[in-house]
Parts: sequence; structure tokens; C-alpha cells
Amino acid sequence: MYNPKSNSADEFISHEEILETLKYAEENKNNKEILNKILDKAKLAKGLDHREASVLLACEDEELNKEIFKLAEQIKQDYYGNRIVLFAPLYLSNYCVNGCVYCPYHQKNKHIPRKKLTQEEIKKEVIALQDMGHKRLAIEAGEDPVNNPIEYILDSIKTIYSIKHKNGAIRRVNVNIAATTVENYKKLHEAGIGTYILFQETYDKERYEKLHPTGPKHNYNYHTEAMDRAMQGGIDDVGLGVLYGLSTYKYEFAGLLMHAEHLEAVFGVGPHTISLPRIKKADDIDPNAFENGIDDDTFAKIAACIRIAVPYTGMIISTRESAQCRERLLNLGISQISGGSKTSVGGYFQPMPEKEDSAQFDVSDRRTLDEVIKWLMELGYLPSFCTACYGSGRTGDKFMEICKSQQIHNFCQPNAIMTLKEYLEDYASDETKKVGEELIKKELEQLTTVKEKVKENLEKIKNGERNFKF
Ligand code: SAM
Repeated sequence: MYNPKSNSADEFISHEEILETLKYAEENKNNKEILNKILDKAKLAKGLDHREASVLLACEDEELNKEIFKLAEQIKQDYYGNRIVLFAPLYLSNYCVNGCVYCPYHQKNKHIPRKKLTQEEIKKEVIALQDMGHKRLAIEAGEDPVNNPIEYILDSIKTIYSIKHKNGAIRRVNVNIAATTVENYKKLHEAGIGTYILFQETYDKERYEKLHPTGPKHNYNYHTEAMDRAMQGGIDDVGLGVLYGLSTYKYEFAGLLMHAEHLEAVFGVGPHTISLPRIKKADDIDPNAFENGIDDDTFAKIAACIRIAVPYTGMIISTRESAQCRERLLNLGISQISGGSKTSVGGYFQPMPEKEDSAQFDVSDRRTLDEVIKWLMELGYLPSFCTACYGSGRTGDKFMEICKSQQIHNFCQPNAIMTLKEYLEDYASDETKKVGEELIKKELEQLTTVKEKVKENLEKIKNGERNFKF
């Protein structure tokens, strides 16, 4: 039944194969011989299949679990170094015709204020985001063919890219909107989007249909096959994710990796990113009402096992999580985080009092972007505002090829240094700037081939020039 090459969701996410995988993982969770064999393969850092990775996820042996975490850290270091890419979500509209039971934007919620930004308001939001220092956005919208048609999304993308305020610019717009048609994905591709992100929410079809009782999102197959249509529409980079808490995490983990295997089998390139959201409190949503919630330790284990299973896929953690939780996960594989986020429509330009707020979920990490940047640097990370791969056509399989051969450092490290310098010059507080300048000095010393060129560019950035990249 399981067929990663199939174009039917029921075959590339095979329920029977997931059940068999969970059984196999359960039977072998203390089998040192099998666990060690899988770990040896994992150490080659070329990834694992869903069965192998599921055994590691189930592993109960304390010593081997330590090794799993250590290996995740190692792989993270080898593929991504100390860089962390920053982004912010931009909520365009919370009109929605779906009935997702975990999301406060569900159609039956009559007391949440509904709002859709005009192009004028988008300008104000983008200027506020540029003034924080952001260069990369993820736009978010509910599904509503009347209020949020594709034309509205396309107009909004055009507006976002057009705004040049002071030294600011949004250089990459990622898009997180509902599953749509190949035609519409083509239009998004032509509008110059970066990654198309769509969370599966849950791979468990029966649960999925219950959790999405009404609206177009009810159709599990249409939703699950969305990434295929996105790729057929020309979008090279797609981002997966499940919303942890909706079904059992072991089921979700196997399903997620099968989805990655399917994309690799059909398109020759796996997901560009995997996001790790957990259900949070929001307006009329109580996360405790969902019986499959996971604790921080389990969350960390999932992150480590994803890192090991798909070493070349970026991993994203949002401000849904606290600073403490994010700190723990950074080490285990996260390569992108949001900072200074607002999850309400219009929240950057005009934050609303809580009662009138249209937020999608409560943000746990409420620090400013400047605080997040300083915190990252003090932890030894190199914050990056780089968007160069997208601007230089390094997307899809071209990106993966460079990433798999661990050559991506040669681009990312200098680009991270130069975009951090831009941030320090234009937006950082004095204290952050001081920490950042020290870090740049240290990072420069470690560069090999392009050190002199980067030094030259840093001088030019100091003198007002912008947007250098390798
Ligand atoms: N409406 C689009 C769709 O249907 O895919 C995507 C945009 S939605 C704004 C982004 C994501 O937020 C959803 O895919 C869901 O996983 C997540 N989300 C919804 N409710 C949430 C909650 N209570 N806590 C945390 N994340 C939530």
C-alpha cells in the first residue's frame, strides 16, 4: 500500500504503514543492536527513513538517548554552523470559512474581531517590520475565497516587495495560506514568493476529518496533496509541519517523514523547512482540551530526531514557544526562528488592547527583535537576515545539492555576517551593537576564502551601502 511515488495521499501517507512502523518502533525501542545500527547509519548524516527514525524516537535507553541528542547537535553544527535565520509572521486577514476546532479563526467564532488589512495598512505594517530590522516575512491568512481571494494575496505580496523605507527592504516573502490550485500556485510563484508553507496539522486522516469538520479544509486528500500541486506550479521550496497536540506525536512523526520521502521520490527534493508548532491558548481555544499535548522533553526529542532524519531541511520554531524552550531546541537543530512577532491582524503598526485583539494564538516569547538578537549572540549564535539563496536562484534541488554537500556554509556564513552588520548599523540598540561588533570580529577571523571581500563589504555597509551577497 505504501507508495512514496504515488500521487494519492492515501498511498504516500499510508495509515497501515504508519501503524506497522509504530509497532516496529515499539518492539525495538530497547533493542540495542537495532538502535546502534540505526545510530551508525545516522552518523553518516545522510538521513534516515521513517521507520529507522521512529525507532530512535521511541528509544527508551538513557545512554542511547544521550547519543541521539549529541548526534542531533553535531549534525546541526555540521550543516548549519552557529547561524540562526530570523523572520516575522505578517497576518493579512483572519476571515476564514473553515471550522478547524483548534484555531480561533474558525468560522463559528463570532466574537473575535475580524479584520483584513488594506494595501495602505499593509504598507504601515511593513514599515513597522522594516523598522524593527526584518528582511524576511511569512504572510498568513485564513481561507476565505470572498474576502481573501488569491488576487488579494498577490496584491499584498506586490505591496510588500515594493516598500523601500529608509534602508529597509523585505527581500523574501514566504507564504502560509490554505491549500489551493496549481493555477494559483503558479501565480504565487510568479509573484516571487520564497517558501510555500502549509502545515498538515495532523497526518491521521480520521482525526483530521474530525478536527476540520466544515469548510474546504475538511478535504484531507486535497490538503495533503497541496505540496505536489505547489511544486507542479513551479514553487521549489515548500515547508511542512504538524500541529503537535492534535494526534499522537509518534504517528505525526512517521507521517511527516513519509511526506518528506514522497516529495524527494517524486520531485527529487525534500521539504525546504519543517516547522514545529504546538497548540497554544487562543481566544476560545483551550490547549488542555486536546488530549495529545506533549511536554518539553518529548518536544526536544522530536526536534532531535527530525534533525537526524532530514539533516538538510531547515527547522523553524516560532514565538509560540517560550525563550527557555527555544533555547533548548536551537542546539538540537533549529535553523530559523521568528522574533518580535505579533499574531494579530495589524498588530505591528497598531497593537490592540487584549480584549479587542484578533490574535491567532498567545505568543510566549514576547521579547523585541533587538532582545532576541542580543540573546542569540550571547548564546554563541550568529543571527542572520540573509535571503541570498532566494535572490540568487539557489532554490529547490539547486539549494539541496549545495546543502547536502555541506557547501552551503561558504555562502551562508559570509552572508550572515554582512546582514548582521546591516542590522547593527540600522536598527540595533547600543548594547546589542557592541555585542554584535565583537561577534563579527570573531566570525571574520574564521572565514577562509572570502575574508578580504567580506571585510571590504563590511566597510561599505558602514558607509551606507546595502544588500551585498554571495
Ligand atoms: N489558514 C491557513 C491554513 O489553513 O493552512 C494557514 C494560516 S494559519 C494562520 C497558520 C497555522 O497556525 C495553522 O496551520 C495552524 O497549524 C496554526 N494554529 C492554528 N491555531 C493554533 C493554536 N491555537 N495554537 C498554535 N498554532 C495554531
